Amino acid sequence: MIHRATPKKIFGICCTAMTLAAIGCTSGPAVSPLEKTEDTEKTYPLPDKAIALSFDDGPSGLTEDILEVLSEQGIKATFFLIGENIRNQPSSAQKIFAQGHELGNHSNGYAPLGGNTDPEVIRASLEGASAALKGITGEDPVFFRAPNVNYGENLSAVCAELGLAIIGVSCWSQDWQESVTTEQLVANVLRDASDGAIINCHELQKTLDGLPAVIHGLREQGYEILSVGALAARKNRTLEAGTQYDRLD
Ligand SMILES: [Zn+2]
Repeated sequence: MIHRATPKKIFGICCTAMTLAAIGCTSGPAVSPLEKTEDTEKTYPLPDKAIALSFDDGPSGLTEDILEVLSEQGIKATFFLIGENIRNQPSSAQKIFAQGHELGNHSNGYAPLGGNTDPEVIRASLEGASAALKGITGEDPVFFRAPNVNYGENLSAVCAELGLAIIGVSCWSQDWQESVTTEQLVANVLRDASDGAIINCHELQKTLDGLPAVIHGLREQGYEILSVGALAARKNRTLEAGTQYDRLD
C-alpha cells in the first residue's frame, strides 16, 4: 500500500541469498564459471554484476518488436510510458505488462515539468499518466522518469506526494540524438555500463536493431540485465518517493 504523505519506503524487497561467494566466484571475470542461458546456445560468464535496462516514451509502433527481443533473451526491463500513448495504444501497454515487464510513469503528455513549473501542472500530468498505468496494471506506479530528464524541486515534491521514486539515468545509449547510429548506441552502452547503472533507451528502430548486440555485449561483460525494481531488490536498496536515483549500487 502506498500512502501519499511524506517520503516513505516504497520499495524494499530483500535480495534472496544468491551469494556468488557460495560457488567460489570472486569479482574477477576470469574466474567466473560459464553458464548456459535458457534460450540460446551461447554461453556467458555467470553474472556477478547487474544493470537495469529501461525504455522511454512508449508505447509505440515498435513496442511489440522490442518485447519480442526481450522475450527471446529472457529479459524483464522497465518501460517509462507516456499517458497519452497508453490511451492511444492500450493493447501494446497491456502486452508490456502481461509479459512481466515493469511500467513507470513518464508524464501524461511530455510537456516539460522541471524548473519552477507550477506544482498543479506537474500533479495533473503525473496523475494523468498514473491513471492510465493503473488502468493497465491495476496498481499505482511507483517509478517516474521526467520528460527529457528535466527535474526541479516542485517536481520532486509532487513525486513525494504521489508515491513516485524518481528514476534517472547513468548509462546513456544517446539513441535520442538523430546523429547516433545503431553501432554507436551499442558502443555507448557497452562503454558506459557499470554495476548498478540504469540504462536509457528509446523505442526507436535503430535501438531495436542494436538491442541484441547490447544484450550480448552486456552479458559478455558479466552483467545480469534487470528491470529497475529488480535491480533495487538485487542491491538491497529501498527507494523513497520524491528522491532521485540515477543508479542503484
Ligand atoms: Zn522521454
